[in-house]
Amino acid sequence: MKKVAVFCIPAHGHTNPMLAVVRELVGRGDDVRFYSFGEFKEKIERTGAVFVNCDKYLPELSTKEEENLKKVSTTEMTIQDIRITVAMDEFLHGEFTSWGPDVVYTDSVCFWGKLNAWKYDVPMVVSTSTFAFNRMSSTYMKNSPAEIAGLIFGMPRVSKELNKLKPLGYKINGVLALVQSDNQTDSIVYTSKKFQPYSESFSDHYTFVGPSLLTDTKPDKDHKTPLLYISLGTVINDRPDFYKKCIEAFKDENINVLISCGNSVDIGELGKLSDNIKVEPYVDQLDVLSRADAFITHCGMNSVSESLYMATPMVLYAQTNEQEAVARRVREIGAGIDLKDDSVAGIKNAVKTILNMESYGNSAQECCDDFRSCSGVKGAADFIENAPHSSDGVDILRDLGKANVGLQVGYSVATILLANILFRIISIRFLWIYIILAIVLSSPINSMLQKTVYKRLVRKKLG
Ligand code: UDP
Repeated sequence: MKKVAVFCIPAHGHTNPMLAVVRELVGRGDDVRFYSFGEFKEKIERTGAVFVNCDKYLPELSTKEEENLKKVSTTEMTIQDIRITVAMDEFLHGEFTSWGPDVVYTDSVCFWGKLNAWKYDVPMVVSTSTFAFNRMSSTYMKNSPAEIAGLIFGMPRVSKELNKLKPLGYKINGVLALVQSDNQTDSIVYTSKKFQPYSESFSDHYTFVGPSLLTDTKPDKDHKTPLLYISLGTVINDRPDFYKKCIEAFKDENINVLISCGNSVDIGELGKLSDNIKVEPYVDQLDVLSRADAFITHCGMNSVSESLYMATPMVLYAQTNEQEAVARRVREIGAGIDLKDDSVAGIKNAVKTILNMESYGNSAQECCDDFRSCSGVKGAADFIENAPHSSDGVDILRDLGKANVGLQVGYSVATILLANILFRIISIRFLWIYIILAIVLSSPINSMLQKTVYKRLVRKKLG
């Protein structure tokens, strides 16, 4: 029997994949304490784990901070994460020294879980509720200029908060080390190796267990009238304008529609609903997806995993860059299409394409089979109980880092040599054009060379 301390940030999308694993651990007789927040009490207690309410450690938020959090601002989330860690310090000191967990199972962006595991030297397994993002797989995420500016201008605030952690005895090497997936940390990823981008770049410290779901339900698409399910998740779902367009698009169609609109939308304000359309604040999504023939989704990792687990093809309406990364992978496997035009006609066309072209459903079915062949919650529970893990020492990222230094030096030397030859032939007046070109081309050329080296390292790894 192991004593397992479980930590997660207050977010359904991060908490949900941990629940089935926690239920499995409890079923095996492990002593599991889940440190979470009032909103999640019921679902956590249903797993049989001891729920520890940490509501009193949540900081009071100003209106501006609350707005930033709603917009999923990375800076704001980082700052609040640090504040909660500071607020919980004394309480967790008591827990780690008196109860003394054997292993910590913590969400990958839950700082108080990770930092306390390091501080008290307890084996830690990280729960990665999205794809695992490292230097290679994060190329799937494109940060907008506004997001990059937000990160740069937010740095002084983040550093100020980080400084509060050091006197409390926490070991930190900057924020990136706290959030990025590295090849030394034992990590569970709730997808398959096939679906994870650049899965070969992750070491043996990773296990890809497939979606972690509390369900035995199998897909059942055997009905005459197609069912369309629409949800924008649980965070950024206050979009009455979008739901109204969906209602308009399908009011006269032979398609049953179920919209999950979240708690912020007043259903009465969405107008008259025709008989084939239902709107609910929250639904049993897995049950609905098992019967749905198409899903308009915001591309949250959980929603997409659940959809593929239930062999449901998707119309992809990503709202954030992380969701865009998930959407890109769905497009690549052929199980969905983007909602490029979110007008009434655009929504109708996209859904009809998904419903009428079998290939989307077939690809979703293939992924469903792949997900169901993974080690699942049992594999995840084994991984936690047996932590810490060792690795065969192969670390593609480390080797890539080394090769990258060589590539950068090589590029600089080649540029200088070429300039030497070129400016013997043409006038030195054009030097400035050459310099600008060399700078502009350095990023795409380096990225191309890096991909070539990566492929070579992967071939070597796979023998
Ligand atoms: N969910 C649900 N019922 C709903 C809407 C959402 O059960 O009506 C669940 C869904 O099954 C998923 C989670 O909420 O597990 C949403 O997580 P996701 O990562 O897709 O998006 P987020 O809400 O974090 O943006």
